[in-house]
Amino acid sequence: MNVRIAAKQLGWLKMEDFCPRCVWLMQRHPIPQGSVYDSPISRFFSQFESFVQQSVRQRMEQAGEIPSWLSTALKIAFPSMPPVRRTLNPPTWSLRVEEGILTGKADVLLELADGTWLIADYKLSQPSTRFAPLYETQLNAYALMAKRQQKLAVSHLALIYFEPDERMFSPTPNLTLPMRCTVQPVSIWDESEVEALAKEMVNLLSQSQPPSPKPGCQKCGADLTEWAQMLAVWFLVESQ
Ligand code: SF4
Repeated sequence: MNVRIAAKQLGWLKMEDFCPRCVWLMQRHPIPQGSVYDSPISRFFSQFESFVQQSVRQRMEQAGEIPSWLSTALKIAFPSMPPVRRTLNPPTWSLRVEEGILTGKADVLLELADGTWLIADYKLSQPSTRFAPLYETQLNAYALMAKRQQKLAVSHLALIYFEPDERMFSPTPNLTLPMRCTVQPVSIWDESEVEALAKEMVNLLSQSQPPSPKPGCQKCGADLTEWAQMLAVWFLVESQ
């Protein structure tokens, strides 16, 4: 059986309150479109991300540089980073890992003046310490796939957070939303660390039966399908 693992999903293994049963249930019981648990919030997030991606691309095409709200935030996070040379539409990467396929698509792929690459993801929230292990894993999974599939020399990984900023209510030519942008650097791991996590996830998701509940936590005992869908919605909203 070929198990598909999303890069973000891999990060569950690094969460402090990781439960293998939760992960197995969410994989086997995705939220059906149109169900009461099919939240419009995820569509809002993806529209926002597309809007920002377009804004960066347009600025690059028109002026040969990324918007100032992004270059300023990048400079603060990476003071010695070379300037951005071009933006690329990130492809959907994939990588075979034993009986599974790791897959994912970053929000940002920038080539720097020295020929190396920055990969980043947008987050519409305050910088999160709770989900930091998950996001770091997600970005390192992207980096591994970009290196293997496209032979890119990845030199920087980053989380780009957007938060509402009530002081910025006059629209700017580059980003017409009252948002504050902060960049958080993410360290690049050894490739073997990401591969080990991917193998662990393949083994977990290949099991034919759900793993046992966590000791002391039996709430998922009754209706597994409904419980898994509620968990998936909670996770989607919490981890954006
Ligand atoms: S309710 Fe079940 S699936 Fe959820 S954390 Fe507890 S044991 Fe894991």
